Amino acid sequence: MPDKKLQELEKGHEAFRAVKFKENENRFRTLTEEGQNPKALFIGCSDSRVMPAMITGSGPGDLFIIRNIGNFVAPYQPDASYHATASAIEYAISVLELTDIIVCGHSDCGAIASLYKDIKKTDENIHTIKWLELGEAPKRVAMMSEHKGDQQALLRYTEKVSVIFQLQNLLTYPAVKRRVDQGKVFLHGWYYDMKSGVIDYYDDELYEFKPLAQDDPTTDHKTKDATC
Ligand SMILES: [Zn+2]
Repeated sequence: MPDKKLQELEKGHEAFRAVKFKENENRFRTLTEEGQNPKALFIGCSDSRVMPAMITGSGPGDLFIIRNIGNFVAPYQPDASYHATASAIEYAISVLELTDIIVCGHSDCGAIASLYKDIKKTDENIHTIKWLELGEAPKRVAMMSEHKGDQQALLRYTEKVSVIFQLQNLLTYPAVKRRVDQGKVFLHGWYYDMKSGVIDYYDDELYEFKPLAQDDPTTDHKTKDATC
């Protein structure tokens, strides 16, 4: 691999085999022999700065992860197209029988920012333009809010509103809706602030985002259960 960046990845893999793999060898073996039983389905943005495992302190086998641009969930659409996000949702719920689905938005999301840009459709971005339609409804709500005059506040607000819309879209999937109605599956809206490293969760009784961890990690190093 001549490219310097790829050489860094190669070195990283060597380090993984020498240290992390050895540390987790028994865990990897058990997961291989017994299969996976993740704690949750995590739907996050493809953004390289959002690292689901790192920000949740997760290890091998802990999270079943879907990542796409903008952490969007397309509504249920049973047609002849290929639906990557939809199929992974169905697999997580119907096959793996996971009980919790987290949609995690984040600050400074490029997908959300692009909703406010005039992007010309070409044969190089046709799927991206179509996918970004999933942010149009959150954008419309945000544009009616008090944040309209402050670009950064508007973007942060759109990012959060979008999470709630994607949770609603999850309920269009019969496999999800049925289990949510039965109290067997629970939906969680999270928002990760990249600058502070803090995850907030959406409280659907108070209609607001609140810190997932109650303790300030700079003053208290106790590990808390990260469910909401
Ligand atoms: Zn993003």
